[in-house]
Amino acid sequence: MPTSLNGHISITGVSKYFGRHKALDEVSLEIPPGSVTVILGPSGSGKSTLLRTINHLERVDEGFIRIDGEYIGYRLHGDKLYELKEKEILRQRVNVGYVFQNFNLFPHLTVLENLIEAPIAHKKLSRKEAIDQAYDLLDVVGLRNKTDAWSRHLSGGQQQRIAIARALSLRPRVMLFDEPTSALDPELVGEVLDVIKKLARAGSTLVVVTHEIGFAREVADQVVFMVDGKIVEQGSSDEVLNHPQHPRTRQFLSKVL
Ligand code: ADP
Ligand code: MG
Repeated sequence: MPTSLNGHISITGVSKYFGRHKALDEVSLEIPPGSVTVILGPSGSGKSTLLRTINHLERVDEGFIRIDGEYIGYRLHGDKLYELKEKEILRQRVNVGYVFQNFNLFPHLTVLENLIEAPIAHKKLSRKEAIDQAYDLLDVVGLRNKTDAWSRHLSGGQQQRIAIARALSLRPRVMLFDEPTSALDPELVGEVLDVIKKLARAGSTLVVVTHEIGFAREVADQVVFMVDGKIVEQGSSDEVLNHPQHPRTRQFLSKVL
């Protein structure tokens, strides 16, 4: 298990426009080291956009984001922020593991090849170091027996577990999951959530967009509910899931529970 996966994410007054549409509206959120935050909200509420700003796949229009104090996509000079060069942004992005709904593994590579390519390219690991690390990560996701399998021959649940291992292979400081189980057949959801729970128990900093309320109850230190680009409710899983205050949270929960 990577030991560096306990970064602190600090989001301060972040707004993001697409044309005239305000996709994020002054979002502020603290994600403490080693904590699990679950983000809930209806479709179009800005959940994916928020995750994408955390590794600067979207640039923010107002506010700023820091990981362990370092400004994401920007550097501070005096009291002004200046946008970093693409090369610097790529360097920062390695600190943020990202798992999408549609596990985009390389289908023409084996499982092992999928896991060693990025750390050799971006972390300067030797081939031997990368292979040793890949075996460790396959143990984490419970797929050591699939080392030489072709990715395209794995089930969706197995592919997503390999996608998690691949994100971990860059030794990120935080992991972001954007609806990691929504594309899976129901019987495969559990095995992927089990891997995420294992990371949570090891004290990792995780941000998970999901509609899996049972998962949120079990592992979330903090639950955030978004509507129209705003955080409308935030608290412990007991507060938000069992005693929601905002009518939109109540309405949403009555549909997904
Ligand atoms: P969610 O993940 O909660 O479903 P998104 O973050 O994907 O929501 O989208 C929030 C809003 O921003 C939506 O109205 C969506 O249509 C809009 N949006 C997202 N990405 C883009 C984009 N690249 N260009 C224009 N509009 C976008
Ligand atoms: Mg989304």
